[in-house]
Amino acid sequence: MSVLSLHRFFFGVRYIYIMKLETKNTGIRDGRPQQKGQLLEQRIEQAHAMLASCHLCPRCCGVNRLKNEIGVCGVGRHAQVASFGPHMGEESCLVGRHGSGAVFFAGCNLRCAFCQNWDIAHRTHVSQEVSADALAKIFLSIHHLGCHNLNLVTPTHVLPQILEALPVVLEGGFDLPIVWNCGGYESVAALELLDGIVDIYMPDIKFFDKELARRYLNAPDYPDICMEAFKEMHRQVGDLIVENSMAKSGMLVRHLAMPNAGDDAAKIMSFLKSLSVNTAVNVMNQYHPCHEAVGDAQIGTVSHGNDLQRAREAAVRNGLRRVDQWE
Ligand code: SF4
Repeated sequence: MSVLSLHRFFFGVRYIYIMKLETKNTGIRDGRPQQKGQLLEQRIEQAHAMLASCHLCPRCCGVNRLKNEIGVCGVGRHAQVASFGPHMGEESCLVGRHGSGAVFFAGCNLRCAFCQNWDIAHRTHVSQEVSADALAKIFLSIHHLGCHNLNLVTPTHVLPQILEALPVVLEGGFDLPIVWNCGGYESVAALELLDGIVDIYMPDIKFFDKELARRYLNAPDYPDICMEAFKEMHRQVGDLIVENSMAKSGMLVRHLAMPNAGDDAAKIMSFLKSLSVNTAVNVMNQYHPCHEAVGDAQIGTVSHGNDLQRAREAAVRNGLRRVDQWE
């Protein structure tokens, strides 16, 4: 299938802003494709083994996804793609002039009650099941469109499927930074399979209060899991490195300021500082009640300016130097 026909195919699935661009050198070309290729063979085998009794993520559902059994994430043997293309709404150091090459995977291992993309996460929106070959073509199309990076959105539950697609992609000359844009509820064993493959980790950090994590993420262990996962991500890639205004490698953390979350943001920022005072943090203010959060007594309201202000002040008070700035 040609790049253009792939585009036409998925364009009807879900609209995101797609620009028609010529193939061009975007300036970020240090994806170490050869080294990545050498790492992949063994990693794919290990990732497959995790699917057989699925413990790819901390939910540890134990279903046999090789036989298409379904766990909490809602996805079986093959990845499901909801949309892909240049995304102009990400952080400026990912977007640049030509966009971040976003691939939105359907399903999710976290399924937050307030998910801002719940139709994709809960698979109520149309998505397309893709083989490894079809996924490889999508990744190559991102490269050919001139995007600055490959931005894998909600990839945790389809890690093996992503790895399966990569050898063909790397042989095809793909050398963009790979961005792991995840919810922060990751298994360290699974993350280890990405060491040397992923260039930029971009995890959300949601709650450090176990009761909030239980109520809204159905994951009271989220804070503990998240801390171990973040340490592993940071061990692999370190602080964010930006060259010519574009992210090249490292970690960029997102925190969505939530209404009525008390001092949770302060605990989160204190932890991020323990990773490094140079941890890049994007404190986001676009929270609005979606899905099960509509009508909720605590989070059934939009996030106000003071929620954002409180989170930013906590970051600064903790000595974080890169709050909402990437250079
Ligand atoms: S990836 Fe999906 S099936 Fe596997 S453990 Fe996580 S939620 Fe369960």
